[in-house]
Amino acid sequence: MSKPQAYSVKAYSAVSAKAPLAASSIPRRETTASDVKVDILYCGVCHSDLHFARNEWNFTQYPAVPGHEIIGRVATMGSDVKKFKVGDLVGVGCLVESCSTCPDCRAGLEQFCPEMAMTYGSTDKHLNLPTYGVYAQSIVVRDEFVLRIPANLNPAAAAPLLCAGITTYSPLRRWKVGPGQTVGIVGLGGLGHMGVKFAHALGAHVVLFTTSPGKTADAQRLGANEVVVSKDEQQMAAQAGRFDFILDTVSAPHDLNTYLNLLKRDGNMVLVGAPEKPLAVASFSLIMRRRSLSGSLIGGLPETQEMLDFCSEHNITSDIEMIRMDQVNEAYERMLKSDVKYRFVIDMTSL
Ligand code: NAP
Ligand code: ZN
Repeated sequence: MSKPQAYSVKAYSAVSAKAPLAASSIPRRETTASDVKVDILYCGVCHSDLHFARNEWNFTQYPAVPGHEIIGRVATMGSDVKKFKVGDLVGVGCLVESCSTCPDCRAGLEQFCPEMAMTYGSTDKHLNLPTYGVYAQSIVVRDEFVLRIPANLNPAAAAPLLCAGITTYSPLRRWKVGPGQTVGIVGLGGLGHMGVKFAHALGAHVVLFTTSPGKTADAQRLGANEVVVSKDEQQMAAQAGRFDFILDTVSAPHDLNTYLNLLKRDGNMVLVGAPEKPLAVASFSLIMRRRSLSGSLIGGLPETQEMLDFCSEHNITSDIEMIRMDQVNEAYERMLKSDVKYRFVIDMTSL
């Protein structure tokens, strides 16, 4: 593979786990024949960005540029790219590369490909440099990893669909959530509020578990049939054994067993939240009613496009609070206090 040239783009990065994010510049490869260069308009702020910037998952290399939920416009593209034209409104999520030939890729589950590259925290094999996230002016990515954004979706509010959207849509579809089921969503943040919207749109009876009583009215507006304040032991006791499925989106330490005990026989709880430290599971929470505990990682490209089309059909986007790039550190602190309604999105013209 001949090595493409690099060009420099403005970005926001952290130089260490303790440092705030600040203006910087990073290299991107020039477009190869199969690449699309996207000028970034809007970028969602995922809690994973915070885990990554602060090295909470122990794999961060610095400088670290977070960001994996963008909407932008096609600026240029390589000679082999036929799918797009200059000016198209597109999205890029957490994935930027995979081998295209392994069983996972052939199944459209590129997130599990052994050679998969993430938008940040992987290696750009063309430049042999780290991949840098999309708190940046532009990104260059192979055309297969660029998603079409339906015209009826508000572009800023669609940005979070590229991670928060697909990460909640995928497990709800995989475990066939639908009418007649009682479904719990734990945590009303970026992922959780999308989970509520999708589970409602799929026809389930939706119960939102929150540590923030002040979010009750919002949860109902977003599609929750019931809201349970998880700190209230009486309210929690009343939920025992009634759930077919629970989606746990919590980013911090919490007791999984409290939620496992709410599942029916053969019920399943899926973790998408990825707290820094391991969580303890009591065997009896699972064995007494043959319950399962599973995990789920974003979603593959075909399912991401399916999710975007589902959103177009059902008029679903994220509820967002727009911020400037220089407000991102403050946004992280608010995210840690569960004070997000319900996804921060950076207006990238402010970079
Ligand atoms: P977020 O917007 O910060 O939302 C997390 C929510 O969890 C909070 O709003 C809060 O909701 C609840 N929460 C926070 N601390 C809690 C605690 N100590 N006990 C109980 N509940 C608590 O975060 P996000 O962007 O949705 O991300 C959530 C998690 O998913 C993160 O760990 C992220 O890294 C992970 N993630 C995983 C994938 C994947 O592919 N699996 C993809 C993206 C993100 P309430 O106020 O309602 O309690
Ligand atoms: Zn994310």
